[in-house]
Amino acid sequence: MDRLHTVPLPDRTALEQGLWHWLKAQPGPVWMTQPGQDPNRHRVVITLLHGNEPSGSHGVWHWLTRGEIPAVTCHFCLINLQAALAEPGFAHRHLPGQPDLNRCFGTPAASESEHPAWQLTHALWQRISALQPEAVVDLHNTSGSGPSFAVATVNDERHRALASLFTERMLLTEVMLGALMERTNTRFPIVTIECGGAVDPQAITVASEGITRFCLAEAIDRVTEGDWRLEVLERPLRVQLSPGCAVDYAERPSDWADLTLPPDIERLNFGWLGADEPLGWLGSLGLKAITVNDGHGQLDPGSLFYQDGDRLCLAQGCKLFMITTHPQIAVSDCLFYAVRAEE
Ligand SMILES: [Zn+2]
Repeated sequence: MDRLHTVPLPDRTALEQGLWHWLKAQPGPVWMTQPGQDPNRHRVVITLLHGNEPSGSHGVWHWLTRGEIPAVTCHFCLINLQAALAEPGFAHRHLPGQPDLNRCFGTPAASESEHPAWQLTHALWQRISALQPEAVVDLHNTSGSGPSFAVATVNDERHRALASLFTERMLLTEVMLGALMERTNTRFPIVTIECGGAVDPQAITVASEGITRFCLAEAIDRVTEGDWRLEVLERPLRVQLSPGCAVDYAERPSDWADLTLPPDIERLNFGWLGADEPLGWLGSLGLKAITVNDGHGQLDPGSLFYQDGDRLCLAQGCKLFMITTHPQIAVSDCLFYAVRAEE
């Protein structure tokens, strides 16, 4: 882990040689400044806090290649190049033994404040605060495949306007993990943009088009007429496997798993599902294999699901998202999130 380096914008030769070539030549986490038409106003794009989420860096690169002058001075910060550059490239969220940088923006424990990762996030935050920017966006990719969405902790016009520059959906969360967007405040809004899966070709388009709008728009503090309508999803429930339980992804019930989900379950990402929709199959533990958490505590899994024979069914209309089909992620993180339909 390293300090923040102020570096010049890539020149024409570097732009022609490409992002990967340029990244390899950088000294560590980098900060670049592009003067705008109005040099007294500032906006900040952060990306690569996670080394395996490259769409934001492609988006920044695409914007710089356009050679346009932004409306206000724009700053681009690419953070975890060390993890991004580690073989085979864009494959590591963070290096083994290093903390997740987007969990280092909370209050550090006494044992953590001297750690280089925490010092880096502290330096980044000092730099952003000193600028007093109009807004900050932090670009990421989801681990599974799926459409883009924004994540915010505040639902007001400034946050919605910022999210609308990139995507059609905004997820409101109350779960505090130590992410950068949790530092949002009354002076400048901060939102996370999940551009879609790192494997999804449209994720780079989301990042490129969003950054272009973010840089060129004269004002970004209100939702302008004619914009797509932003859907705000509130109170997401985190659906996890219960400790010690196993999941399988298969077309029919697995004889060893406590939960079997179809391999193409990602196609349900962000679509409305009606009550009684079958999602998969339960094993001998039934609904005990599933844990549901609303960010404040555990809920009865029966509030979201019911069991019909061995089928796992939705008890009410829901939207599911961040669905994974990676068993390791399902076990270590979660199966998916759910937002219930308004009754
Ligand atoms: Zn991320």
